[in-house]
Amino acid sequence: MQTPDWVARGQPHIWQPYAQMKTATPPLPVVRSHGSRLELADGRQLIDGVASWWTACHGYNHPHIAQAVRAQLDAMPHVMFGGLTHEPALTLARRLAALLGPGLDRVFYTDSGSVAVEVAMKMAVQFWLNQGERGRSRFLAFRGGYHGDTFGTMAVCDPDEGMHSLFRGMLAEHDIVDLPRDDAAMARLDAFLETRGPQLAGILVEPLVQGAGGMLLHDPEVLRRLRRLADRHGLLLIFDEIFTGFGRTGTLFAFEQAGIRPDIITLSKALTGGTLPLAATVASSRVFDAFWSDDPSHALMHGPTFMGNALACAAANASLDLFESEPRLAQARALSTALAAGLAPCRELAWVRDVRVLGAIGVVELDRIDDREALKRRLVEAGVWVRPFGNVVYLTPALTIAPDELDTLMRAVIAVLRAQRP
Ligand SMILES: *Cc1c(COP(=O)(O)O)cnc(C)c1O
Repeated sequence: MQTPDWVARGQPHIWQPYAQMKTATPPLPVVRSHGSRLELADGRQLIDGVASWWTACHGYNHPHIAQAVRAQLDAMPHVMFGGLTHEPALTLARRLAALLGPGLDRVFYTDSGSVAVEVAMKMAVQFWLNQGERGRSRFLAFRGGYHGDTFGTMAVCDPDEGMHSLFRGMLAEHDIVDLPRDDAAMARLDAFLETRGPQLAGILVEPLVQGAGGMLLHDPEVLRRLRRLADRHGLLLIFDEIFTGFGRTGTLFAFEQAGIRPDIITLSKALTGGTLPLAATVASSRVFDAFWSDDPSHALMHGPTFMGNALACAAANASLDLFESEPRLAQARALSTALAAGLAPCRELAWVRDVRVLGAIGVVELDRIDDREALKRRLVEAGVWVRPFGNVVYLTPALTIAPDELDTLMRAVIAVLRAQRP
C-alpha cells in the first residue's frame, strides 16, 4: 500500500481530533466521496456507516447541493453579517422558522454546534438579566449528555464521560442530573427545582437520543416531563438537536415525537447536508422579546466572523429542498426497520450488552471494548468506515444509503464483532 506524498509531508504538521497522536492509527487519506462511499488514496472504497459525524444525510456529493453552492460561489461567497444581509441567509431563516413551527422563529447563525449551544446559553442567561432577574446563571443538564467542546459547553456535558474531566476545575458550575425516566425521578427533580429553580436560567437536553455521550435513548415522555418542569418552575427549555435534527430520528426534528416544543433549539450537523460548516440557534418570540428594547445593553452581544456565510446558507437551502423533493423521512423510517432486523444477530454475542435503534441510528453496546484501535482497523479491513467510541459501535449512515450497501455494512459489523471479543 503506497502512501501519497502529501500524507508523508503534511501529517507531521497535523493535530488530529480526539486522538493520542503517538499511538492512534494514522488517519486514512480520502481522495473522493460519493453517495455512501469513501475512496481512499490507494483506490480502496469504504462503505460509510457514520456519514461524517451524521452530517451527510443525503449521501456525499449530492448534485443539487453542489449546483447551489457553485452558483452562490459565483455570485457572492461571503459577506460580513454585521450591518449587511443577503437572500440565502434570510430565505433559510424563513424556511427554518416554517419547519420548526409556531413559537420558534428567530434564527441566530453561527458556524459550529458548540458555539450554537454557547449562544443558546448566553440567550437564556441574558433573557433573565434583561428582565431584571439576577442570579440565574446555572443550567440543569443531564448525565450522558454532550453539547460541545468549548469551555461553556464542556460544563454542561456529562462530567464523568472522560472527554473533559481534565478541565473540571475551570468549568462553570451547573447541575448535571439523571434524566427523569419515571414518575419517582420526576418527583425528585421537581423537589430539587423547588429550591434550585431561582438560580437556574434553563434546562438543556438532547431530545430522544444523547449522541456523543453514548448513544443513549429515552422516551418522548421524558421530554414532556421536562416541559412540565420548565413551565412549573419558570425555566427556559433548550433542546440541542444538533445530532437529532433533519430526520435522524425518523421525524424532521426529534421534539415532534414528544408533541411539545422547546423555547430555544440548536441545529447544525446535517443542516447543510454535510457540506459546509453552519449552525443555528433558534429562539421563540418570548425569548426574543426580552431583547427587544430601547436599551442598547439589552442587545445580544455575539457575532461570529463567518456568521450567516452565504455558501453555507445556500447549501442548507438546497438541503432543505431535498427534504421536500426526495422521500428522506420515509427513508429514515425504512432504515430504522432495516437496522433493527440487521443488527439483531449481535444480541447473541456474549460481549454485546444491548442493541438499540431509533430512526436511522443503530447502536450495538458492548460490555467493554479493550482495544478500540484494533477494532477500527478490523472494520476498515472489512471494507466499512465505522468509528466506535466508549463501549459502543454505532451506525448513522446517510439516509439515502442503498439497501445492498446497508446490508454489507451491517454484515461487516456483525462479522467483525463475532470473530473475537474486541
Ligand atoms: C456535535 C454536537 C455538538 C457540537 O457541535 P460541533 O460542531 O462539533 O461544535 C453539540 N451538541 C450535540 C448534540 C452534538 O451532537
